[in-house]
Amino acid sequence: MTPGHDPSPADVDPCDLPQHGHDLLRLEEARARMIAAITPVGGEETLELRGALGRVLARDVHSSVDVPSHRNSAMDGYALAGRDLPAAGSASFDVVGTSWAGRPFTGEVGRGQCLRIMTGATVPEATDTVVMQEHVRLEAGRAVIEAGHRAGQNVRPVGEDIRRGELALAAGCVLTPARLGILASVGVGEVAVRRRPRVAIFSTGDELRPAGTELAPGQVYDSNRYSLAGMLARLELEVIDLGVVADTREDTLSAFEMAAAQADAIVTSGGVSVGEADCVTGTLARHGEFGFWKVAMKPGKPVAFGRFGGAYFFGLPGNPVSVMVTFYQLVQPALRALAGVTDAEPPLLVRATCETRLRKAPGRLEFQRGVLARRPEGGYTVRSTGHQGSGVLRSMSEANCFIVLPLEQGDVQPGSEVEAQPFAGLV
Ligand code: AMP
Ligand code: MG
Repeated sequence: MTPGHDPSPADVDPCDLPQHGHDLLRLEEARARMIAAITPVGGEETLELRGALGRVLARDVHSSVDVPSHRNSAMDGYALAGRDLPAAGSASFDVVGTSWAGRPFTGEVGRGQCLRIMTGATVPEATDTVVMQEHVRLEAGRAVIEAGHRAGQNVRPVGEDIRRGELALAAGCVLTPARLGILASVGVGEVAVRRRPRVAIFSTGDELRPAGTELAPGQVYDSNRYSLAGMLARLELEVIDLGVVADTREDTLSAFEMAAAQADAIVTSGGVSVGEADCVTGTLARHGEFGFWKVAMKPGKPVAFGRFGGAYFFGLPGNPVSVMVTFYQLVQPALRALAGVTDAEPPLLVRATCETRLRKAPGRLEFQRGVLARRPEGGYTVRSTGHQGSGVLRSMSEANCFIVLPLEQGDVQPGSEVEAQPFAGLV
């Protein structure tokens, strides 16, 4: 695998970041390279349906039954033969019995007769039409039905949802609540899912302290591990939290080794810039398979990608907003590929009228953070969450979307149309 442009020579000082003179890589290109480099994890397990929410289906599921398995009523009402419906005026019918859901009527329904029927109850052979009860008048024990109904109405045919032998769900899909429902509806009680990838995370930085402790001057609390762990959990990945690692070659290397010994992928934050203390890229260059890109996106320009031991490696920048944006835009699709997801859809983009002025210099694709809302008269508006610094995590926490500003775009004036990408449950 050669994820980057060129591997760094082995004799490079690991803390002396290689300076590639390359142009910035486009985000789509970086994403495509990551996905192309990834082989999904092997192994599967069988789970009871309820425990399989969010997991990746390991094998195609074909239905062994028709859904529904019997012709049934879509309404509470009266079942009759469509040819007995009055063409004009009204007609009245003897009511010969009741068909309940789960308790079919076993008698005969003749000409000029009808049957009381409940939603989901079997529609008997001799009938093919259901008139909803609100349209039926009962007079002296007979059902009176006016003209204006259509033969065949309100009857659900066998296999209307899924036919026997049909593909109900394809391998590689994520088991959403609707898909768990589909599996149950075809009678599947246990399901084979792929093993969850194990993802080790650690934060790098001498200045970082865990939340809940005292800060000395110049120190900051480590927030990245919490936002990362949260996003990983939402992706149904197994998180191995290796804490905070100091900016030394020794500590960085031993953290890499510990991570690779347990995990399928490693995601780190910090230490991928060009400072003296940025050891992550150097460690990957010297001891792993190295790829380093400067991606034409903001926030989050430098991203390291490669392999270390048997694990894929994702080195994200340190700034808290950059971590979340690069994870969302680059690492998430790569980890989905690692998990074996094959039906990932491109993110939804919504055109919206921007209510605030946005500062933007041409040259990078920007993911500003915004609040998307529906206008009562139709269409959408979006506004900025304010200060967009890559250290201002509140810009993320108050947002419900990214405002996606194309590479060549300059400042945005209020009232202009922009594209917004809703967070879709991950952030
Ligand atoms: P770096 O990429 O390591 O140079 O870090 C860039 C900025 O992000 C610095 O201001 C760091 O203090 C800050 N930073 C790095 N890691 C974290 C973290 N885990 N939590 C909060 N801030 C961080
Ligand atoms: Mg740092």
